[in-house]
Amino acid sequence: MVEIRKDYFTESLCIVGDESIGWGSEQEETVCPYCAGNEHLTPPAELILLQSQGSLVKTCDSEDERIKNWSIRVIPSRKPFVSTSPTQRYNDAPLYSEPAFGYHYEIVATPSHSETLSTISVEQWSNILRVIQDRMKWLYGKKGVTYVSVYAEHKCEHARFNVVTLPKLPPIIEQEATTFQKTYHETAVCPMCNVVSIETGGPRQILLSEHYIVFSPWAPSTLHEFWIFPRKHQTSFLKVGQKELNDLSLVMRAVLGAFDKTFNSIPYTLVLHSSSEKKVSKQLHWHFEVHTNISLGNSLHVGTGLYFNSISPEQTASKLGSAARRELATLVGVA
Ligand SMILES: [Zn+2]
Ligand SMILES: [Zn+2]
Ligand SMILES: [Zn+2]
Repeated sequence: MVEIRKDYFTESLCIVGDESIGWGSEQEETVCPYCAGNEHLTPPAELILLQSQGSLVKTCDSEDERIKNWSIRVIPSRKPFVSTSPTQRYNDAPLYSEPAFGYHYEIVATPSHSETLSTISVEQWSNILRVIQDRMKWLYGKKGVTYVSVYAEHKCEHARFNVVTLPKLPPIIEQEATTFQKTYHETAVCPMCNVVSIETGGPRQILLSEHYIVFSPWAPSTLHEFWIFPRKHQTSFLKVGQKELNDLSLVMRAVLGAFDKTFNSIPYTLVLHSSSEKKVSKQLHWHFEVHTNISLGNSLHVGTGLYFNSISPEQTASKLGSAARRELATLVGVA
């Protein structure tokens, strides 16, 4: 059974899953299935980026043979949230439910167990972002895929991204896209471009590059939260070209590297918010958000929906900003 259920009263959704789906089990495992050399512990990789004679080649595993010396692997998730054969049950409110149809992949970001998103090279970051684009494009071509969600948990057992497709726009994307549509309709200005312009050079700016701005949001929902936005209006992450991708990789690596050093490796989740590629879907100005797992005032939030943050985004930006500029200088070799 895997189904999407909606709350009795609000728009909040919950996927009710099934533990029996997927591969491997944590109790049995004494070795990491994502590490180089343990490829046989996972299903065949459907996409592999391979270092071959100085250039990168795209390939995939076969059923009985696993490719070695890979740089990035894309495999079906060990614990999928959605299924290509979900419950075929539709229910009306107040017990609303629909099948949780979808695909769930994991992009193994590095063959090495000790690397994290904050330590892998800028070049590897660029490869990862290209593989994410590749997989998103492929998934948007599938039937029953309305939204492709991409996220990574910093402190998971081996650095990797999750790519989960959903049969409908998730509530957060729906909300951001609705705000975009409404403001754009009324003022002919993208509200997110407006935010980029307000935050550029302001007290919450962390890093500014040719194409991207990193800033701490005005009303954060987690401690030391920050967002990465393209400075020019762009609706989809799939529209990012190679030159911008290189810039993004450098910015990403600089700020995540600095984050670890500044805030003692607080676990974070990196999420992509991008427009759906399905024609009828509402658009938004794509961006990454980085949320820590420290959501202060959690009980206040449960009771009221309000967040409480004892450290202001301006304080976070000032600390993380100087560390990120130092990290960037080291990465480009001018320190
Ligand atoms: Zn590992
Ligand atoms: Zn915009
Ligand atoms: Zn967002």
